[in-house]
Amino acid sequence: MSHGQDERTHQAILQGATLGVLGSGQLGRMFAIAARRMGYRVHTLSPESDSPTGQVADQEITASYEDLDAVSEFAKRVSVVTFEFENVPSATAEVAARFAPVRPAGQVLHVSQHRLREKSYLAEHGFPVTPFRAVRSAEELQVAIRELGCPAVLKTAGWGYDGKGQAKIHSASEALSAWERLGTNETILEGFVDFRLEVSVIGVRGVDGQFAHFGLLENSHSNHILDVTVAPARVSARVAAEAEAIARGVLESLNVVGVLCVEMFLTHDDRLLINELAPRPHNSGHLTFDANVTSQFEQQVRAICGLPLGSTELLRPAAMANLLGDIWANGEPRWAEALRLPEVKLHLYGKSSARAGRKMGHLTAMANSADEAERIVREARRRLMG
Ligand code: AMP
Repeated sequence: MSHGQDERTHQAILQGATLGVLGSGQLGRMFAIAARRMGYRVHTLSPESDSPTGQVADQEITASYEDLDAVSEFAKRVSVVTFEFENVPSATAEVAARFAPVRPAGQVLHVSQHRLREKSYLAEHGFPVTPFRAVRSAEELQVAIRELGCPAVLKTAGWGYDGKGQAKIHSASEALSAWERLGTNETILEGFVDFRLEVSVIGVRGVDGQFAHFGLLENSHSNHILDVTVAPARVSARVAAEAEAIARGVLESLNVVGVLCVEMFLTHDDRLLINELAPRPHNSGHLTFDANVTSQFEQQVRAICGLPLGSTELLRPAAMANLLGDIWANGEPRWAEALRLPEVKLHLYGKSSARAGRKMGHLTAMANSADEAERIVREARRRLMG
């Protein structure tokens, strides 16, 4: 590392500076809102235009992540580069790093954008993960199924999210069709975890190693997509503390500067197994925008700018419900009906076409208990559809 870069690393980036975000979805939008509130300018680069982030950024650059000239130009004009989308090629992060600090570093992306690298890294560093095997051929799949047993889940090693690129295998006889369906020879077989709950911890780490987390979040999924998050998770204090310690360990091990979410399964006998890492703010942390002293997005701003982290205290129990394009099926959702519940906050991401399964926005409700917050947010979402 050059002297100049070293200095860059330790100086706080202050208001008036421009922050660069790769990716332009709702995570970048909420990051940009937090950044602008603190007096920063925001540039975003992605292949999209009129994007959720672009609509609130100072500048939206529409270019492919592989267009390294565009990435260089983008990085030259900002004080720091971060991500809201982790499936950016390694070369993109490397090129950006020639001109500005990249936080979290490209190495964190490299590990977390590939399921096999991620699980291998975590296992080698002593973190609890779902049982897995690398599978490169139909023959290796048969061996892996014998070792891990059924049911199991075959996943593509790269480019997977929200259950895409996955096939559940109930018996060895289904192996070949699952292998052919995925259509790639870089896959990972995981034992199917009969979990009690899915949970997550969003960790944040500053340039100086300061660590903060938002406590344990409880997640329920529908069709492999996050549906509802409840904070705090309804588990014992011991389980929550253990999950928080795992998350801290992961952020420290990877030397993360920024935000990283650790998604975990909680088994019926209270064991925690890491399912996945996301090196950016996470859908399960959207409720922090309304319910915590400092949101995950403001923490991302503070961390990448070398500023002290804020308090992550949960002000009130809260719940978040995702709004997918499906709720437009019968025309414009009845927004006013949901907002008639005064504890409910509406977030929409400015996406123009409401496709089924597309994340269009979310609702957050706050209440005196986690159960009550969940009840209210589900009721609000029901009201949208009449
Ligand atoms: P992923 O894209 O890997 O996060 O998977 C999406 C969802 O599929 C998870 O949130 C789980 O609900 C389910 N899933 C994935 N892997 C497993 C597994 N090994 N065992 C049980 N459920 C799984």
